Formats: sequence, C-alpha cells, structure tokens
Amino acid sequence: MMQPSEGSSFPCATCGAALRFSPEYGGLVCDHCGNREPLPAGPVPPGSIPETAFRAGIEAQLPEAATELRRLGRCPNCGAEVGFDAAVHSSACPFCATPIVAGPDPARRIRPHAVAPFAVTGAAARAAMQRWLGGLWFAPSGLAAFARGGRALEGVYVPYWTFDAQTRTAYSGRRGTVCYETRPVTVRDAAGAMRTELRQVARVSWSAASGQVQRAFDDVLVLASHSLPEGHTEALLPWDLSLLQPYQPEFLAGFRSEAYSVTPDQGMGEARAYMDRMIDRDIRFDIGGDRQEVLAAQTEVSGQTFKHVLLPVWTAAYRFRGQSFRFVVNGQTGKVEGERPWSWVKIAAFFLALALLFGGGAWLMQNPDLLPWGQGQTPP
Ligand SMILES: [Zn+2]
Ligand SMILES: [Zn+2]
Repeated sequence: MMQPSEGSSFPCATCGAALRFSPEYGGLVCDHCGNREPLPAGPVPPGSIPETAFRAGIEAQLPEAATELRRLGRCPNCGAEVGFDAAVHSSACPFCATPIVAGPDPARRIRPHAVAPFAVTGAAARAAMQRWLGGLWFAPSGLAAFARGGRALEGVYVPYWTFDAQTRTAYSGRRGTVCYETRPVTVRDAAGAMRTELRQVARVSWSAASGQVQRAFDDVLVLASHSLPEGHTEALLPWDLSLLQPYQPEFLAGFRSEAYSVTPDQGMGEARAYMDRMIDRDIRFDIGGDRQEVLAAQTEVSGQTFKHVLLPVWTAAYRFRGQSFRFVVNGQTGKVEGERPWSWVKIAAFFLALALLFGGGAWLMQNPDLLPWGQGQTPP
C-alpha cells in the first residue's frame, strides 16, 4: 500500500525538525539547525520529462505507480482542494483564507510528472507585495503602513496540465479578393440636389479554396483548478516550462500544494479549443487572399500525450478594513498581480482638483470676486 506522499514531512537528520525546500539552495534546508540536504535526484536537462499517452491517461487506466494517495481538504468558499501534511487536520485556504478541514480518507490522484521549483524566495515575494501595495495610486492612507506591517505569503504549487498533439486538418472554404471598380453613384449635394458622380467601389470576388494544414502542438498549458480567478493566472504568464524538473515530493517540503479539480479529459477539451483556434488561423493563412471563409474543416489528432505539472505561486489573501483582497506572485519570475482597495475620497478629490483646474479655474478667472478670500487679497 502506498503511503500518502503529499507533504509527508522530511525530518532533519541532525535535529529532527521539518526540512523545507529552499529556492536559494535548490535543496532541503533545516531552519532550526542550518543543516542542508541535497535532493535525492539532481537536475535534468530541459525537455527530458516523459509524457503520458492521453488514452491511457484516464485515471482508472493508469498503473498505480503513476498515481498517489493524498490527504485533501476542500475549501467551502473557493473550491480549492488543498493537500494536507500527515499531522495537520485543518488550516486556512491559501487562496481565500477560509478554514479548511482535511477529508476523512485519502484520495487517489495522478502523480505530478514535473515541478517548476520555487525560484523566488518568500522574502523576495513579500518585498514585492510591500512595494506593490506601497506604490499604488489612490490607495487608502493606511495601506502603505499595512504593507510595511510585514505579512507572510504562502507558497503554493498550483496544478496544471500540459498537452502535446499532432494535428492534420483538411479544409474547404473560399478565398475573397477585393477589387475596386469605378462606378456611377447617385449622391445628394450640399444644396440638396441629386447628381451622379463616379466613385471607387470595393467588390469582393470569391473563389473556392481547399487544402490541408498540419501542426505539432507542444505543451499547451491548461490550469487544472478554479480556485484562482482566470485573470490572476493569466497575469502570471509566461511560465518557463523548460525549467521543469521530474517530480520529487522533496520539492513540496515547506510549501502547500493544490490538487487538480479539472480532470485530464476536461483539460484536453480546453486544450482542443485552443488548438482549434490556432488551426483556424493556419487555415486562413493557407487560403490567403484578402478575405477568408472556412466552410468545413476535418481534423485528425494523433500522438496525444499529457503531463501533470505543478507551478509555483506565492499567494496572500489579505483583509484590509473588513474587505478581503488577493495577491499572487509568479514563484518562477517574480511577476506580481493583485486585487487592491481604492480610496474613493482620494479619487473624488483628484477629479475635483482636475475640474477646478480646467473648468472651475477658467470660470473663476472670469468671476474673481467669487473667490472666498475676495479679489486682490492673498488666500488665507
Ligand atoms: Zn536540523
Ligand atoms: Zn478558498
């Protein structure tokens, strides 16, 4: 029987405290005694992560070695399925700070193929958040001080699928060529009289077009959960997937991880929608001309494979004056995205100042006696 590998702690050989993966060291460190332990397997060259054939990838058909048992808890608010350490039974959701309790039984999930290890340290992510919060325009006055108040971010591995496929598409459609011809057109002139003048008129002439396009898709990336809003995850793009390393649970030490809630099938559906958009562009390029119409397209897909990958995100759900906001940092690149409070008082004051400057200012110039301090006097 496999043991739940998720977050099973890695005790320090010297003092027994829990080791954590250190982005700076690239291995495990002990915060208690300073002991360092390298990862069991060293780094691999880019592109050497094996893929799983898609047909075999439906969970029930995978061999047990390709799956793992995990203790998971589901966030009642945002739906995130978060992994739990063996000794931990409840915690706060890393995405929305709602309390989560671990489920009674471990769940079997596809084991991640690869991990993009955290490269940005927690301290760097926190500094990025402080800079971002402190540098916002029209933020409430207390926010900069709140940002300096030093709150920790949580490192979470977010689940993704990547898909490869070769496609070959036979299409039929029409190619439109725009030509201009000079034609008499009846117009009404300024005086209201009708007259005829010669004008250049565009005309599209269509001809049949058909052919075949093909494409090799590599690592089409699909988010495998819905806990972060799409705008947030899109803002974290791009990811450097050439830095993926084969999955070792040691990478997760000291971090949290989310389990996928989008199945490989659903993920493939999303990847296919993306592939179809790319294929449509290829077809239109292939048809050429000035306008294109695609009437029919038949796509054959072969060599479908997928990978389950974990990508690193620093996240904080912060509460400011009774409202909650989310903040995320790409753990690979340090790119920042967040939700923010606005100070409506500052915004109103800004527009009032603008209005005074451009509108009211001009009006006051014409009526200087209306100034509260009167004409010819210095303002108080
Ligand atoms: Zn130690
Ligand atoms: Zn949540």
